[in-house]
Amino acid sequence: MRIDLHAHSNVSDGTETPAGVIISAVSAGLDAVALTDHDSTDGWELAAAAAREHGIAFVPGMEISCRTEQGISVHLLSYLHDPAHPGLLEEITKSKDARLTRAEHMVTLLSEDYPLTWDDVIHHVAPGATVGRPHIADALVAAGVVADRTEAFTSILTSHSRYFVQHYAPNPAVAVELVRAAGGVPVFAHPVASSRGRIVGERTYRDMIDAGLLGLEVEHRDNPEEGRTFLRGLAAEHGLLMTGSSDYHGAGKPNLLGENTTSPEVLARIEELATGSTVIR
Ligand code: AMP
Ligand code: FE
Ligand code: FE
Ligand code: ZN
Repeated sequence: MRIDLHAHSNVSDGTETPAGVIISAVSAGLDAVALTDHDSTDGWELAAAAAREHGIAFVPGMEISCRTEQGISVHLLSYLHDPAHPGLLEEITKSKDARLTRAEHMVTLLSEDYPLTWDDVIHHVAPGATVGRPHIADALVAAGVVADRTEAFTSILTSHSRYFVQHYAPNPAVAVELVRAAGGVPVFAHPVASSRGRIVGERTYRDMIDAGLLGLEVEHRDNPEEGRTFLRGLAAEHGLLMTGSSDYHGAGKPNLLGENTTSPEVLARIEELATGSTVIR
């Protein structure tokens, strides 16, 4: 059984449709795949239909952007929550709306130095999708400013860049509570990914665990090896599940479906713990 629990479609910043992600998962030889678009569950239905058609298991998921009081970015994966839960829906709607204002603000700043308009960016965003820096990167690629998304993220679009603007994001412990309230299974995504920016300290882990965190994404290409050792220790100490996943974004990132996988036992445990929705088989 090959299971990958972290993939994005064009419902957020992936380059393939939800059905396209399912087809790519079949091609990659996966038996189960989760769709975890940023702050949106809009891809679930299309992915579920494609999964039924292609005979692969589909795990409904989402990745919630959060920020600690210290200003550190935290990504929280949620599996099998109720997509209509009012409290959770309200938070992600707030984030999604704020992402739009924030992207417009970044484009205004960028347009002072680069040939870039808001229309250029919108051209790369599927209708209703969660807008992110990757879409700005796509417009910069089209304008010939950078070669690809990766170059954009290592230069103009880093969080240290003068063009970077923050957007509203819930506190990670609050997000964990909301996911649990919505019957979902919260898993801390790429917790020690220091290449993406500052990483959280013990206090945030404690707050998230106290709030009901159930798992850690240990095997992820952005987690350095020494960080993974720390995460395995933390998981053992607190009885947390350990997942491994690709964080596939289609052509938007080098990450390949199935490059890290999650054990069938862990997926079974996620299914037992969740009450908000079910795996589609
Ligand atoms: P945002 O959520 O708008 O702040 O943008 C962050 C998102 O950009 C992350 O969730 C990743 O999906 C994506 N990202 C980060 N680094 C890269 C990269 N080097 N290449 C492509 N996408 C990236
Ligand atoms: Fe992303
Ligand atoms: Fe992430
Ligand atoms: Zn992701």
